[in-house]
Amino acid sequence: MACYEWRIMNILVINAGSSSIKYQLMDIEDVHHCALLASGLVEKIGEPSGRAIHKTFVGDQERKFTEERHFSEHREGMSRVVTLLTDKKMGVIHDAAEIHGVGHRVLSCGEVYRDTVLVTPQVKDTIREFFPLGPLHNPANLLGIEVSQEFFPHAPQVAVFDTAFHQTMPPKAFLYAVPYEWYTKYRLRRYGFHGTSHKFIAQETAEFLGRPLAETSLISIHLGNGCSMAAVRNGQCVDTSMGVTPLEGLMMGTRSGDIDPAALEYIMGQTGMDIHQMVDALNKQSGLKGVCGVNDMREVVESAAAGQPQAETALEMFVYRIQKYIGAYMAVLPRLDAVVFTAGIGQNSAPVRARICQDLVHLGLCLDDAKNAVPANEPRAIQKAGAPIQILVLPTNEELQIALETKQIITGR
Ligand code: ADP
Repeated sequence: MACYEWRIMNILVINAGSSSIKYQLMDIEDVHHCALLASGLVEKIGEPSGRAIHKTFVGDQERKFTEERHFSEHREGMSRVVTLLTDKKMGVIHDAAEIHGVGHRVLSCGEVYRDTVLVTPQVKDTIREFFPLGPLHNPANLLGIEVSQEFFPHAPQVAVFDTAFHQTMPPKAFLYAVPYEWYTKYRLRRYGFHGTSHKFIAQETAEFLGRPLAETSLISIHLGNGCSMAAVRNGQCVDTSMGVTPLEGLMMGTRSGDIDPAALEYIMGQTGMDIHQMVDALNKQSGLKGVCGVNDMREVVESAAAGQPQAETALEMFVYRIQKYIGAYMAVLPRLDAVVFTAGIGQNSAPVRARICQDLVHLGLCLDDAKNAVPANEPRAIQKAGAPIQILVLPTNEELQIALETKQIITGR
């Protein structure tokens, strides 16, 4: 078991999906003093053959355990997580009681909470209230909380909402131009997602630049399987690209992003698809996958470089949409310190970053090609010396942010 002088608190971070439980156990004091003890995933819960993957990190040693077996429900999955964490060989703690708090990633709380909260019966009711607005995630997130309460009854449970960071957006940014009572009666508005990542990136940017967060303005570009951007003015989100669901905004791995809503009616008429099939196609069969057949950016870049025209088109579309949002966010931010790339594509794909920046020199984005090309896991600046706007590559860490906020709630700090 890892042991450090500053050892303060074991926080378990849980991200429960409809058929999976992802977890990380961290020993944490603050953003600079934290140790990942274990991480893992139980997947395909409810399917005939499921899988558990458990990794431990003790000192410099990383160990991995994989198990193929059936998990009938989340309770059984969580039970396996507990036995793996406390196992004599594969475990990192002796007993579930050594977990001092559990932080849950929760998709949406609408406008009810602007920040992270301790889970109470009222909080659970709110998460339930938002099932219709987060039908894929909120029910699974609540299930994760309830199962965790059973297994860790001694530990405070904390809900960290993916929408919370975006609650500072003004009405002109979050309202849709539709009948107003759709907002007042049905809560239809743009909520935004990836809030935990954008918040972490805003804090990391301030630290990297050596400025107070309240005096830092940035455009945060999160490019993973899901992609979103946030305009952050003096540490607060003023606009973001995702909407009432994560489907709006940028082109993504399998999601369309922005589309004329009347196109849905037209294609449904042509194909006979119903609205559920249509939304499913926009979520799972569109984006990079829809245009060129693959959603892994590495493959898209390779195929484009090999001269495959549809891959080149998909890549151009992906980049163009991001460039348009950068322009839009520059227009709404009175001052801009940095444009920041993060997540799988943002951190790792030098060609995508280069394409995004190459036509934006007139906006002050002057990329240094040599700095951009160096692969690294460290936070770094990749703009030319003397450029007016910093271009940063910062690793995101949503789990760490959830663990930090969980600890803050538990300790009252
Ligand atoms: P998630 O949204 O699931 O957390 P990630 O942040 O892990 O996703 O990002 C996944 C995306 O990152 C995939 O499209 C993958 O192709 C892309 N990616 C990872 N490494 C690279 C790389 N070296 N070059 C280009 N894309 C990469």
